[in-house]
Amino acid sequence: MENPRSARRQRAPDPIAREILLAFWKVHILHHAEQGPVYGQWVLGELRRHGFEVSPGTVYPLLARMAEHGWLRPDARRRSASPKARRSYVLTQEGARTLQRLREQVVELHREVIVEAGTTGGHGRSNSATNRR
Ligand SMILES: [Zn+2]
Repeated sequence: MENPRSARRQRAPDPIAREILLAFWKVHILHHAEQGPVYGQWVLGELRRHGFEVSPGTVYPLLARMAEHGWLRPDARRRSASPKARRSYVLTQEGARTLQRLREQVVELHREVIVEAGTTGGHGRSNSATNRR
């Protein structure tokens, strides 16, 4: 009989990858918070859609830390509803500035590690045959 917990853990990234992915997740969260309020359950689903198996124990503290940094703040309109089930956050001005800086850095990072390296992510659009020479 297979242990469902160990099955779930199979996809958990190794600690080193996780250390780096944490930063990616924060960029995702800022990006989506720019479009509208975000909350823990939604973030979990969205990261899963992107292929990240992230636990609530990671996402909730992450949102709280982002609020401490002043990038997000609790959405006042939602506070009265069910605070436990759905604490949503909105992007602050500081968060918007941070996101803008990160976008520039993502472009720069993409240019160097993908474009200049001749890597297209292995989705069949690779021209690595010509780039390898
Ligand atoms: Zn996303």
